[in-house]
Amino acid sequence: MYGAVIHAPGDVRYEEREDPAILEPTDAVVRTVAACVCGSDLWRYRGISPVPKPTPIGHEYCGVVEAVGDAVTSVKVGDFVVGGFLYSDNTCPVCRKGAHANCQHGGGYAGCQADRIRVPQADGTLVATPEMPADDLIPSILALSDVMCTGWHAAVSAGVGPGKSVAVVGDGAVGLCAVLAAVQLGAETVIAMSRHDSRQKVATEFGATHIIAERGEDGIAKIRELTEGIGADCVLECVGTQDARLQAVGCVRDGGNIGLVGVPHGELPVDKLFWRNVGIKGGPAHCREYLPQLLELVLARKINPGLVFDLELPLSEIAEAYAAMDERRAIKSLVRP
Ligand SMILES: [Zn+2]
Repeated sequence: MYGAVIHAPGDVRYEEREDPAILEPTDAVVRTVAACVCGSDLWRYRGISPVPKPTPIGHEYCGVVEAVGDAVTSVKVGDFVVGGFLYSDNTCPVCRKGAHANCQHGGGYAGCQADRIRVPQADGTLVATPEMPADDLIPSILALSDVMCTGWHAAVSAGVGPGKSVAVVGDGAVGLCAVLAAVQLGAETVIAMSRHDSRQKVATEFGATHIIAERGEDGIAKIRELTEGIGADCVLECVGTQDARLQAVGCVRDGGNIGLVGVPHGELPVDKLFWRNVGIKGGPAHCREYLPQLLELVLARKINPGLVFDLELPLSEIAEAYAAMDERRAIKSLVRP
């Protein structure tokens, strides 16, 4: 089979790779229907995170089950499935609390941008659709593998609910999904911070009530204008850079909450936040916890997070899928084998 391998910053190749096999009785092998490139894949592509050796890459997928181990009971060959970017057993004490990203028997993938994927802990990771989904739903189902669950996690972590004012820092796919999540969770004011026309359009389509193009102090001033001068109840930080984290700190009101889902690449002034009574929560999303509910919303066509994909390419053009995102010609690239 073929799949993506990152060799060095800026160098992702479509290469022949070993076919995945059932190694544990709890495994499944999934034939990929669609996969995509994540903003967090770009950390390595841009040389910000190291690439010590050629490594299969990708952690978002949906597809059809091709084989299962003897212990797998909840999915069967032929099922259409989606799984989160981390696998989990869905049975350990941590999973039973809904914190699947921190499963005691969980872990991550390397190499989901590929024809086939080995999924460990298939029962605790994959969720099957009741029937083969319509083709136009594939992007939205794929979005549940990471970005939509991550946006949702930002909103849940920041305590978004009815009547709240929410500011979203970051207009990448996760930030846009965080806008959609905040709207779904009943927020009254949802402010997307975005300078890019195409991304502003998606944010508006997702239900953002306001768009703010300014950043830094000007951005903070604009947020305050919309929030009785105090800042937003909930700020969803969906980037992870130092600038974005400080933007979130500046936009939140005293006594408010910051939901953090951007992979951290900078400090947070925790001591300062203490005196302001600001809550901080977040981390990798508990996809398996959110998947059933969000999949239901997608299949009922109540949410369409697949709008974040504005480029679709064959898997063989994975190098271009990365380049387009890196150069901001695309919000998010979807690839099909
Ligand atoms: Zn677990």
